[in-house]
Amino acid sequence: LFISVEGPEGAGKTTVIKELELRLIDQGHSVLLTREPGGIEISEKIRGIILDPEHTKMDSRTEALLYAAARRQHLVEKVFPALEKGTIVLCDRFIDSSLAYQGHARGLGIDEVWGINQFAIDNRLPDCTLFFDIDPEAGMERIAQNNQREINRLDLEALSFHQKVYEGYQLLIERFPDRIQVIDAKQPVDNVCRDALHALTSLLDE
Ligand code: C5P
Ligand code: MG
Repeated sequence: LFISVEGPEGAGKTTVIKELELRLIDQGHSVLLTREPGGIEISEKIRGIILDPEHTKMDSRTEALLYAAARRQHLVEKVFPALEKGTIVLCDRFIDSSLAYQGHARGLGIDEVWGINQFAIDNRLPDCTLFFDIDPEAGMERIAQNNQREINRLDLEALSFHQKVYEGYQLLIERFPDRIQVIDAKQPVDNVCRDALHALTSLLDE
């Protein structure tokens, strides 16, 4: 079972996904928690290149290709082998981040970014994608309360960019209604977890 978690900055993806991992293990499942871009050495290095604040000249298509490359290596080295063993893979961000950030917000086009990602993922979409829904203003507000350093980094990208990211995710929710489950991420962590597990029930029972 391949599950990806998506959402704007400050949605609490990383916090909730750790709690989800614990609850699934508690239920007796074998679980692999991983993240994108990264998860393995090569892809973490690519992440470092993409997110390096000194790389101000990076072209948007270069960025999209690097995300796709990191995705490919992570799938081949870590995700596919785990899925083969029957492990539940919980992935913090996946293809929808590329479609929302590079495709929509950076203006490359969702279909164009979808194309390079098809090459990278070989049709292996997640069985379910949890979209942690929080409006961009509330997300940024949350980050501001928790982590001043992070907000300084994000400030470089204006709120209008994050609004476009959010808009991109809305388009994806319309496009993939069967795969993407919307979870209200403004609730306390406990409730977000409960709703996330609830959204996965039918898949977990199979
Ligand atoms: O998931 P995490 O918050 O660690 O992501 C790190 C950063 O990478 C995010 O702030 C996001 O802006 C950026 N990102 C991106 N395009 C992607 C995936 C992540 O711009 N496809
Ligand atoms: Mg995170």
